[in-house]
Amino acid sequence: MQLDLALQLLRHAGHELVPEVLQSPRGLQTVIDALVEISSRDALTGLANRRSFELSLAREIDRVARSGEAALLLTLDIDHFKRINDSHGHAAGDEVIRAVAAMLTETVRPMDLVARVGGEEFAVILPNCSAQFAERVADRIRSKVQSALITTCTGDTLQATISIGGAYAPQWVRSSPVMWTERADRQLYRAKALGRNRVCLEPSASSTVSAEEKELLFALSPLHDHE
Ligand code: GH3
Ligand code: MG
Ligand code: MG
Repeated sequence: MQLDLALQLLRHAGHELVPEVLQSPRGLQTVIDALVEISSRDALTGLANRRSFELSLAREIDRVARSGEAALLLTLDIDHFKRINDSHGHAAGDEVIRAVAAMLTETVRPMDLVARVGGEEFAVILPNCSAQFAERVADRIRSKVQSALITTCTGDTLQATISIGGAYAPQWVRSSPVMWTERADRQLYRAKALGRNRVCLEPSASSTVSAEEKELLFALSPLHDHE
């Protein structure tokens, strides 16, 4: 009975499992894998969802603390999105969200994680991205969105812009997903306040490490934040 429910859920999410798969020795594992897959994805865009983003961020912090490799977190928000909804309708708004999601995925490397973390809010985790490249990467995303013409199903052609904030993972220091996200968000608010359609990054990877983050240096695992 519960298997029926799981299959119904998967069918609803577009995963049609053929009966032969279920009868195979790995049938149950296939169902479990498919359930894990849909629980980590955002239904509108197919991007990683907030839950999956937070887990990836915790893993990235762990990696940076062990390897000392630079990593960048970007948080992105569509500018004046309410106006898009108000003048073109909610369905067109959804199409803009989907189009921006696709542009983000196209612009970053396969190793980067793009997530939809809120209504018209996204985040990108860029492992192994030093300050030297950060500005260029973030601005490439911003300008790609700015120059795109988005055609909706009603035939309207829209343009949108995004504001981007960015913060580095403190190298050799164990941060927490919340603190890292807050630092990136602070830069995003700055980008909005400075007029939108712009990128604001933390000045440098190490100068902004807080005392709280330094205290976490010897913490066992950032995954404990979720427990
Ligand atoms: P700002 O430049 O300051 O970001 O302005 P904004 O208008 O984008 O402001 P805000 O972030 O407050 O507005 C987001 C709006 O997005 C509010 C909400 O109605 C709309 N929204 C949230 N989720 C969705 C969604 O899934 N689809 C659509 N179409 N709209 C959504
Ligand atoms: Mg917003
Ligand atoms: Mg917005």
